[in-house]
Parts: sequence; structure tokens; C-alpha cells
Amino acid sequence: MNSYLFAHQESTTDLFTSRYVKKSTKITDIQSAGIKAIKKEYAYGKVWLVGAGPGDPELLTVKAVRVIEAADIIFFDQLVSPEIREIFPKTTPAFYVGKEKNNHSISQSDINQLLINKAQSGLNVCRIKGGDPFVFGRGGEELLQLRAAGINAEVIPGITAASGCSTYANIPLTHRGLSQGCTFVTAHAEKTLDINWQSLAQLNHTLVFYMGVTRAQSIASELCKAGLAPTTPAAVIENGCRNNQRVLSACIAELPELIVRNAVKSPALIIVGEVVSLADELQPQDWLAAAAAANTQRLSA
Ligand code: SAH
Repeated sequence: MNSYLFAHQESTTDLFTSRYVKKSTKITDIQSAGIKAIKKEYAYGKVWLVGAGPGDPELLTVKAVRVIEAADIIFFDQLVSPEIREIFPKTTPAFYVGKEKNNHSISQSDINQLLINKAQSGLNVCRIKGGDPFVFGRGGEELLQLRAAGINAEVIPGITAASGCSTYANIPLTHRGLSQGCTFVTAHAEKTLDINWQSLAQLNHTLVFYMGVTRAQSIASELCKAGLAPTTPAAVIENGCRNNQRVLSACIAELPELIVRNAVKSPALIIVGEVVSLADELQPQDWLAAAAAANTQRLSA
């Protein structure tokens, strides 16, 4: 068991309470439930569903870092970037439980059961996922199962891809006079997309498509068919907030071809809306980048 956890156990009641203590438990409950059962419950560990953000370790919350450092065991997803995996303590067992497209290495119900089993065996579990666990992250499903099994669990929000990737690409999701709102849409579907294109096209604000890179053609044609101007600015951000981030932009009608020509791969996010046109103006000016490089050279000389 990690000593850091124990060190904090006495002094805090929430983040590092490593044992499941039912606050409402009365002495009569204890008698009726039997000392044995209560003892077992006290011995359970806790599960944290942690949002890792889109990739840059510096976008992790302070709370996420503390849980990563304190956990007894870590389960991580495909979207947890290599840079973030690097900061997992070398002494903490860390297991990949990612689900790649068309290659479901471990089923969702097996993951749920794994988390429950580990907590029941007394371990404090860090279940870390890309972005925010509650945004297209199946965090709700995992939490429901943990609650049903009587496991103490907590969700730590993360920066979702729409927010992190757009910011790193100099695209504000909203901008006064250009976009008064923003809608997150998943383009993931078992077969055909079940999306109300008419209403999306009429929103007249920023649209962000998760899991849309292989369906860019149908996203673009459905939006245009539903009345969105084909000249609407759009961008695709591949590996956002990581060292290998790529940002490509074109009008929505031409974006699918650009994606194919540049062999854009997942993880990638599609942003559609007038805000994309601000990116050029908002990017840091060349002289700033040059000054920063000169400063680094001076410091390392
Ligand atoms: N829970 C995650 C989303 C999981 S769905 C979140 O809140 O961000 C997976 C999709 O998220 C990917 O297919 C991609 O569309 C998007 N995504 C996640 N991380 C990304 C990144 N670093 N760069 C670009 N897109 C990303």
C-alpha cells in the first residue's frame, strides 16, 4: 500500500480517504449487519476515475497528479498520452485497458469488474482516461457499476479534447460576434450516424466532432445538405496538445479531401464554425517564437 496515501489518511477526509467509511452508519446498523460484513467494507479501496486531459502532462489537474502518485494500481486508456504515462510512478503497477477501434482488447464490462475487484481487494485504483471521463468517455457507465457494487468512487474532471485542442490550435470555441455557443457531437456509431443535421446546421455556432476523422466526408456532406454554407471554415486537429500536433484547415466542403490527402489519423477532432478563421490572427507572432528560441539558446550556452 502506498505510504503517501496513509500519510494523508488521518488528516483529510475526501481526496485521500483510502478506506470506504459510510458516514451514515449507526451502531444499530453495525449490529444488524454483523461486524464481519462491516469490517470487509472498511477494507475496500477507493476508485478514482481520472481525466487526463488531451495529452500535455501540464494540463493535468493538481488533483489528478496527486491521485496518480498515490494510487496502488493504475489502469489507463489508449488516449492517455505517452508523455502522461511517463509520469506514472515506476513502482506502481500500470495496465493498459484501452479499446482500439475494431479491436476491443478488453470489454467495458470486464473493465468495470476489474475496477470493482481491485477495490474490493483493498487497493486504491487510479482509472485514468483521456480528456474528461464524462465527455464521451464512458465515465458514467463505470461510475454506475462502482456505485452499484458499493465501491467508494470519485470522478476527477479533465480538460476535454474540444477545449484543449482548440486552444492549442489558437481557435476560441466561442467569440463575441462570431459564435455564441458550442456543441460537442460524437461521430461514433455502430452503423450510420444518427444525428439531427438540420438542427446542427441551423445553430449558427461552433460544432466540435469527436471521433469523426473517418466520417469526415459524411459529416461535411450532411451539414451542407442541411443548409450549412460550404464555405464555412473548418479545421481538423490531430494529436492535439501533444508534441506531434497537426492542425489543418479548409472550408467544410474541402476538409474531407484535406484529411485524406494528409492521412490524418485518430485521435483527431473536427471543428466547424467561423471561429476557425481567427486562428491565423491569434497565433503567436514569429518574433515571439524567435525571441523565445534565442533565450533558450542563451540559457543553455
Ligand atoms: N473523454 C475524451 C473523449 C473520448 S472520445 C475527452 O473528453 O476528450 C475520443 C475522441 O476524442 C477522439 O477520437 C478524438 O476525436 C478526441 N480526442 C481526444 N484526445 C484528442 C487529442 N489529443 N487530439 C485530438 N483529438 C482528441
